[in-house]
Amino acid sequence: MPDTPASAPSIVRVAIDRPLNRLFDYRSPPDRDVRPGMRVRVPFGPTRLTGVVMEAGVTSEMDPGRLRAVSEVLDATPILPDSLRELLGFGGRYYHHPIGEVVLGALPPALRRGRPLPEAATPEPLWAVTEQGHRALADGAVRGERQRAIVAALADPDSAPGGRLDRPTLAGILGRRPAPRELERLAERGWLECRPPEHPTDVPPEADSAAARPLTPEQQAAVDALTPGEARPLLLEGVTGSGKTEVYLRMAERVVARGEQVLVLIPEIALTPQLAARIQARFPGRVALLHSGLAEGERLRAWASAARGEARVVVGTRSALFTPLPEPGLIVVDEEHDAAFKQQDGFRYNARDLAIKRGQLEAIPVVLGSATPTLETLQAARQGRYTHCPLRTRPDGTAPPRIEAVDTRVHTPDEGLTSPLLDAMQATLAGGQQCFVLLNRRGYARTLACDHCGWVADCRHCDARLTVHAGNPRAVCHLCGHHEPVPDRCPECGAELARRGLGTQRLEQALARHFPQTPLIRLDRDSIRHKGALEEALERIRSLDAAIVVGTQMLAKGHDFPRVGLVGVIDVDQGLYSVDLRAAEHTLQLIVQAAGRAGRGEAGGRVLLQTGHPEHPLIRGLDAADYTAMVRPLLDERAESGFPPFGHLALVRVEAEDANTAETRAGEVATPLRRAAASGVRVLGPAPAPRHRVNRRYREQILVQSGDRRALHATLHQARRAWEGLTLPREVRIALDVDPVSLA
Ligand code: ADP
Ligand code: ZN
Ligand code: ZN
Repeated sequence: MPDTPASAPSIVRVAIDRPLNRLFDYRSPPDRDVRPGMRVRVPFGPTRLTGVVMEAGVTSEMDPGRLRAVSEVLDATPILPDSLRELLGFGGRYYHHPIGEVVLGALPPALRRGRPLPEAATPEPLWAVTEQGHRALADGAVRGERQRAIVAALADPDSAPGGRLDRPTLAGILGRRPAPRELERLAERGWLECRPPEHPTDVPPEADSAAARPLTPEQQAAVDALTPGEARPLLLEGVTGSGKTEVYLRMAERVVARGEQVLVLIPEIALTPQLAARIQARFPGRVALLHSGLAEGERLRAWASAARGEARVVVGTRSALFTPLPEPGLIVVDEEHDAAFKQQDGFRYNARDLAIKRGQLEAIPVVLGSATPTLETLQAARQGRYTHCPLRTRPDGTAPPRIEAVDTRVHTPDEGLTSPLLDAMQATLAGGQQCFVLLNRRGYARTLACDHCGWVADCRHCDARLTVHAGNPRAVCHLCGHHEPVPDRCPECGAELARRGLGTQRLEQALARHFPQTPLIRLDRDSIRHKGALEEALERIRSLDAAIVVGTQMLAKGHDFPRVGLVGVIDVDQGLYSVDLRAAEHTLQLIVQAAGRAGRGEAGGRVLLQTGHPEHPLIRGLDAADYTAMVRPLLDERAESGFPPFGHLALVRVEAEDANTAETRAGEVATPLRRAAASGVRVLGPAPAPRHRVNRRYREQILVQSGDRRALHATLHQARRAWEGLTLPREVRIALDVDPVSLA
């Protein structure tokens, strides 16, 4: 840092929430010690903005006399520690996103707007069901849907493994925030009791069943592989039920016992309330939960309690990665393969990848857990950059079932269902077990078409077919949400229209016809639209014996269902043949995740996969017990094409309201990329995006590819400078996606 002459004013460099690729210099008040990581109010044009000081005591290129002064210092001490500012700086450079938006975006909205950091939080009290409450629940005396849902969630060892939850965790499980008064009223009736949270040093955690049991040798090996202070990432690969969560918990216990904090990242809270609840049960009163379902004040309090070191374990979705931890010891990324870790707009970061960077910066280990790790992660483990700890056996001794293909060329499906699948379902249901049927497409029918003249119902705003939805019948665009009434007749020739292809609603109807006596539950985004619907459905599935559950990828996620005897997979061929970068990988992940649902009980289980291509090498290689072997052909393919993990990609997308503008401007955007391209960097395009028009905007894209990450970033960096000199119409947008998940 250059010395500042004593007489010269002290200058600070500030990040502000504007899409500009730079920090701004201000004179800091003479009487205050303004340090990096503190928030300030600064004049910006005619307004004042909240900013975060990134550097202090700097010399400015500008004449100090002309610099404006900081208006107000908002924090007495820095709220963003050095390591986190460094992480955000890295994130801004790596994803080529304006630093101010990155830094301000990492703060809870309340802090972004300048609200003060709350004083030391009073920890959330824990709620538990009393003896009387258990009896009342059993006798049906707890009336009122909402009341019953609360008492049932607390009484259920699946959702509340330690029998006690705080209000934010309960909110995650219920899918709504119970008011404090609701809980108090239940306590007044004698059904609930409110216990003060344990003091942070209070050691023995409430034991759930697994906590008391010894780890399997593989689990123990994974826990022991974690070396304090060693930043090497660890891949914990294991099928559902292999005991990954238990490994996280034991690791966390060690870390917390050392006086350090743990950060656990999960893809989404609604689909995985069990994990949050288990952590809460193991560390009562010491967990901060951060997810999008929180009210602003709750979010701020949770963030502050982590930042002050009160919360010892922080559980949260993507953006929780940016929570300050004064004593970090471990980061866990659960379901690391999940695309929800990648932000798809604005600052397009991948929280999994930035978690690894944070681990390096803080010198702490990062554990990536999955039954189906990404090819990137598997390759890093193969090369020895990550420690690889497989969990091949489940503690309960069950193994994931073999995946059997049903050839749809031999067994023609009727409304999606083949006779071998129907027979297997019959047998499973007769044995008192459940059948899960996976079809990754919601709605009733995929398209609406005229067999007479060939007319097809398209979205008027997108290059997409309209999907027919039953119930309140509508034709819906899954890209932009546009919907319209379903026409009876062809608007071109007047002939009757055919509903083609299968969605979950139609499959549900077909299954209801085949199994009229069996309880049938549908799980997709439409069926869980209203609050609490998901929890209700999950509760029902857990409470039933023989039942059929039909749904999208949602039914392959998170939850633990003990009585699934059969998993049927309806139609995945499209995914295997799609040209999109990760379509085949995602399809295999989906099949294996779904297969993991089956056979958790003593009776074992079956997985039937309906396909028209049983000879496809990926189908032939399906083996839920050895995911690494199964994806080897995909890795070979990627190696050949120089795609990740063997090369690096960035996607530049140019959008405009009409096709011509998009095309010309994309050309202007591509030119500096070509000029800047170092050797070994390929610039492909511009070309219309696979979905050319979405939501009334036309999209052109340019793919930048290189085997050399540094060369790729140098190219992007230079091109970005040149783009700043382009005068583009306001409506034209350039978006840069580094390490894109999809090229569609
Ligand atoms: P995953 O996270 O891989 O799905 P979990 O950690 O949830 O696996 O474990 C699956 C089930 O096995 C849970 O019911 C858990 O309580 C139990 N379990 C985990 N580890 C052990 C163990 N060492 N001994 C006995 N049961 C265990
Ligand atoms: Zn027609
Ligand atoms: Zn649309």
